[in-house]
Amino acid sequence: MHRQPIVVGNWKMHKSPREAIDFVKQLEARVCEFASVEKAVAPTSLALSGVSAALQGASLLVAAQNAHWAGGGAFTGQIAASMLRGLAQFVILGHSEVRAHLAETDANVNRKAKAALAAGLQPIIAVGESLAQNEAGATVDFVRGQVSAALDGIAAADMARVVIAYEPIWAIGTGKSATGEQADRIIGAAVREPVRDLYNDRVADAMRIQYGGSVKPGNMAEFMVQPNIDGALVGGASLDVDDFAALVEIAARVKGS
Ligand code: PEP
Repeated sequence: MHRQPIVVGNWKMHKSPREAIDFVKQLEARVCEFASVEKAVAPTSLALSGVSAALQGASLLVAAQNAHWAGGGAFTGQIAASMLRGLAQFVILGHSEVRAHLAETDANVNRKAKAALAAGLQPIIAVGESLAQNEAGATVDFVRGQVSAALDGIAAADMARVVIAYEPIWAIGTGKSATGEQADRIIGAAVREPVRDLYNDRVADAMRIQYGGSVKPGNMAEFMVQPNIDGALVGGASLDVDDFAALVEIAARVKGS
């Protein structure tokens, strides 16, 4: 089954609103020719409205870095998923930095994913094991658990809009990445197969799964050639126009047709 490749840049707490707008204008000029690849940038919340306005009609889409499950209320510092409507097409949920520093739980990721889907957004649900879990051989069980908790109660009909990003924590921002084969094996066993068990073959075969963790132009092809990997969630390398454009070009070359 053909799945459209998807490359998303997670800018974390980098780039001011002005810098973000200048960057996406340059990036759009470089990547618009690669129509076979879906691509998005995730700026800070402060830059969402400017970036979204600058990208009206562009090929480059917008992702938020987080969202709250409630429609509104006394939640200081939070943004409701429904408030992102019209500003973003995607929202990253369950990123390991949010899990580690802001006490994000599987239950909250699930509530947020449902709120995102109800708001018409596509959740990109990040999962992945720590170095200790990896070394203890606990990766598949742990990631499977994260996947089933995140998807609890999500209808099969909504699954076409769900993207899962497998990001081993030990590979994020460290310069160490899994090998393409390792990542493909974990993704198959801990993400695609559980989705097959939870739903059915059609849902599992259609679901897009990204790898994330120190992806750069030099190793992108190694991931993109893998059968279970449909794209990348990228931190560091997405902050550079040349690198981001190269990642999209490689995704198009390897998996674009
Ligand atoms: C990320 O933040 O999701 C990520 C994968 O970061 P990096 O590419 O810098 O490892």
